[in-house]
Order: sequence, then structure tokens, then C-alpha cells
Amino acid sequence: ILEVSHLEKSFGSHDVLRDISFQVAKGDVVSVIGASGSGKSTMLRCVNLLETPTGGSILYHGEDITDPKINVPAYRSKVGMVFQSFNLFNNMTVLENCMVGQIKVAGRKKEEAEEKAMAYLKKVGMDAYINAKPRQLSGGQKQRVAIARALAMEPEILLFDEPTSALDPQMVGEVLNIMRQLAQEGLTMIVVTHEMAFARDISSHVIFMSDGVIEEEGTAKEVFLEPKSEKTKEFLSRFR
Ligand code: ATP
Ligand code: MG
Repeated sequence: ILEVSHLEKSFGSHDVLRDISFQVAKGDVVSVIGASGSGKSTMLRCVNLLETPTGGSILYHGEDITDPKINVPAYRSKVGMVFQSFNLFNNMTVLENCMVGQIKVAGRKKEEAEEKAMAYLKKVGMDAYINAKPRQLSGGQKQRVAIARALAMEPEILLFDEPTSALDPQMVGEVLNIMRQLAQEGLTMIVVTHEMAFARDISSHVIFMSDGVIEEEGTAKEVFLEPKSEKTKEFLSRFR
């Protein structure tokens, strides 16, 4: 579905991404691991067009999304994103958060948007909180709402940028369990994470980034159990 070729991103003279290429097929669960500053978020933000690539191409069903003529909101409704910091609308209720994109971007009627919002809030176990405002929720609850909001758009690919990094340890599990369930249901996902056990368990493919390049990639077994690169070995040894 997605084909990233020779992707580059510089900020001024700082080359953050240098020649990143990979493909994502339907149902793939791709984990992206790597040290802080290696360019993981920048890569994901380029795929979601939150950053404009400075080189290379990103094909979504064969169409280059870096073309300025692309309809960005429509693209983002197909390739959604869940952020470390939730990015919920604080002035809206949980239900409104899960409806607004459906109405404004997907053009759905209010009734349909509400129905879908309710269904996905139920899926993440947050249907009892529809009238709450984000500030009344725990971090784990906020992230589950953010996931429901993204799912309500019925995206083809969901991108996650360290979805559990801002959470207290006791809330990490509830979010990872939902992601695990989504992966098992066949949702196509790209997940930037520092949760190595999780990445090892759910990934069909693992990408290890180092200094703006893909240092190593392969199946979870290949990258975690039989890493070839010294840099990969050194990185993984920090988690043992
Ligand atoms: P972390 O694990 O800490 O989240 P990361 O792998 O996601 O790290 P990025 O956030 O992609 O890393 O950052 C990679 C590099 O790009 C860093 O050196 C960062 O300072 C730089 N960078 C990211 N965004 C910008 C920006 N908007 N302007 C300038 N430099 C940036
Ligand atoms: Mg990051």
C-alpha cells in the first residue's frame, strides 16, 4: 500500500533522514526502533505529511503524496496518526473528539459519526466516558480515546509515534493491549516504540534506524534474535 523510496529530510544543514526506503503491505505491522534523535518521528511525520520531505518519494497506492496537489486532509483520513502526547481537543468532550474529523474531513453525517464514535470508544473500553473532557481522564484513558478517534476515521494505515512513552507505567499495558488486538485483527500499522518486547511480539517487520538511515531491517526474529549489525546489537543490549 505504501512505498517509501529514498526519503530525505533536512532541517537547514541538518540531514535528519538520509535515503530511507521501505514498503508496507496490507496487514503489515511494522515496528520502528532506534536511539533518540535517529529520525524515527521525522520519518513518521513525513509519511503523515506533517513534515515535507526534502527528497525521495512516498507512494500511497502508487500515488506520490509529496505532490503539492495532494488533498492532505483526505490522505490523513486514510493514513492516520496517534501521538505520544495524545493531541486531543481539550475543549471538546470525548465523543466530540471522536466525531469532529469524521464530519469535517470524511464528510459523514452527525448520526453516522456518532454511531462510529460510539462503536470505537466501546472497542477501546471508553464508552462510559463520552461526556468527559480530556482533562478529567488519565493518560492511558486519553490515549485510548485518541486511538478510538483515529479508528473512527476507518484508516487504511495507522501510524503510532511512541504511544506509551508519556504514560505512567501502570497505564502502558492497557494501551499496548489495544494495539495488540488491532494488530491481530489485521490493521496495517507502523509503530515507533521503545517497548522492545511488544515490538518483538506483534511485528511482521522491524526497522532499526540509526542516524537517519535504516541500519537493519527484517522480521522480528531476524532483528531481535539474530541482529547482523554491530549497531543493532549495541542498541538492543541496552534493553537486556
Ligand atoms: P526520539 O526517540 O527522542 O523521539 P526520534 O528518533 O524520533 O527521537 P526525531 O524526533 O525524528 O528523532 O529527530 C531527529 C533529529 O531531527 C533530531 O536531531 C532533532 O533535533 C531534529 N529535528 C526534528 N524536528 C526538527 C525540526 N522541526 N527542526 C529542526 N530539527 C528537527
Ligand atoms: Mg520521536
